[in-house]
Amino acid sequence: MADRYLHLTGTAPGRFLTRRLGLPRPTPLLRWSPEIPRLDGALLHLTAGVPAVAGVAEVLDRVGLPVVGGSGRADRTAAIVLDATGVATAAGLGDVYAALHPVVRSLAPGGRVVVLGTVPSPADHHQAAAQQALEGFVRSLAKEIGRGATVQLVRVPGGGGTAEAAESTLRFLLSPRSAYVSGQVIEITAEAPGPGPVADPLTDPAAPLTGRTALVTGAARGIGAAVASVLARDGARVIALDVPGVREELARTADRLGATTLPLDITAPDAAERIAAAAPDGLGVLVHNAGITRDRRLANMPAGHWASVIEVNLDSVLRTTDELLKSGALTRGGRIVATASIAGIAGNTGQTNYAASKAGIIGLVRSLGPRAAADHGVTVNAVAPGFIETRMTAAVPLFIREAGRRLNSLSQGGLPVDVAEAVAWFARPDSAAVNGQVLRVCGQSLLGA
Ligand code: NAD
Repeated sequence: MADRYLHLTGTAPGRFLTRRLGLPRPTPLLRWSPEIPRLDGALLHLTAGVPAVAGVAEVLDRVGLPVVGGSGRADRTAAIVLDATGVATAAGLGDVYAALHPVVRSLAPGGRVVVLGTVPSPADHHQAAAQQALEGFVRSLAKEIGRGATVQLVRVPGGGGTAEAAESTLRFLLSPRSAYVSGQVIEITAEAPGPGPVADPLTDPAAPLTGRTALVTGAARGIGAAVASVLARDGARVIALDVPGVREELARTADRLGATTLPLDITAPDAAERIAAAAPDGLGVLVHNAGITRDRRLANMPAGHWASVIEVNLDSVLRTTDELLKSGALTRGGRIVATASIAGIAGNTGQTNYAASKAGIIGLVRSLGPRAAADHGVTVNAVAPGFIETRMTAAVPLFIREAGRRLNSLSQGGLPVDVAEAVAWFARPDSAAVNGQVLRVCGQSLLGA
């Protein structure tokens, strides 16, 4: 469904009207395309205090933007990375202010700010306070920065770690692929015990999933179709799964991508076996995207509404994940990406069943991530979309729909491709140190923030 308001605010009369009425004025977001492969401008690399992590400059050099140091000047600043890993006291926070205060206004529209921190220490409450303070700082700056710019906090492993583990994350956040992600905190994991997730060298940086098979559930339309498309773009052999009832729509989507189809209800008792059979050489990426809503307030909710939502959105995800890991169908170095929702974080009237199922996904990811890495070399992460323009949200009544679109820091809904780009980042072979994370793709929605 078209966001007519966003188009209106791009016209001269629309700009005049919205300014006079004090209405939100969303900036159209620049998304990745072959014509817009990277941000337009320089990357300003700043530090606050003495960095506690090595290798940040080397990683930033590889991001693909010209890097300018603290004392340098750029005609156009597309991104600012502030290394605050060494901030360990309340007084040290003054260095964060001093670094960003003079330059934040010079950030180009649609620019990126990434603050690098470390995990708050359970053994040092001064360091923990200072590092946790960065979260409040980032979330606030993301709310006020405006003009389509985004702000994130990336926690890299301290204790002598290097920034290399965060490279795929920085590449994603400092690119047009993360246009609808803002106000997020991402924790890069330290070396996992056991075999650990595999970081394969990229054979082709433009097609990092070359040689991998990716299965996407609910792929006939909406977010699932976009995920299938982006994974195919990144080189994966895609298997598109959806219920037999939408076989034709599924075939049309798959044909466009050169994908194969698997018409299958994910709640079928033999779903895992059929998935494994469809990928005889093993699965490298499993994306649990299929989901349904059956909304009613709890007092009016038929038992069937409750049961079907839990079954499709959560139970089938748990079951197929367990079976595919156990059978080894998910190969070492594999990636599981599940789909939560901000409703699972904030709750929503009429959605006790849906929010429970999506919060359950968050529980699954946080618990299984470290164990799946240790036992199978597989990472487990989730995307939590906010308001995304799909058939699901087009069915929402007008006023609630408008509120959903505007009540976020970017004052607009996201597109299915925004979620798909986040899934593709989790799926990358070099995202081995991104595990157990839940990334909200919601433009920093006020709900549950
Ligand atoms: P959609 O309804 O457009 O597409 C969902 C797809 O899943 C459909 O093709 C459907 O046939 C398929 N599906 C449903 N039950 C299935 C089953 N039992 N087996 C196999 N396939 C099944 O929805 P969407 O908006 O694209 O949402 C995709 C996912 O993102 C869902 O998990 C949804 O809960 C989540 N999500 C969406 C939004 C949003 O704003 N659109 C927000 C938060 C979360």
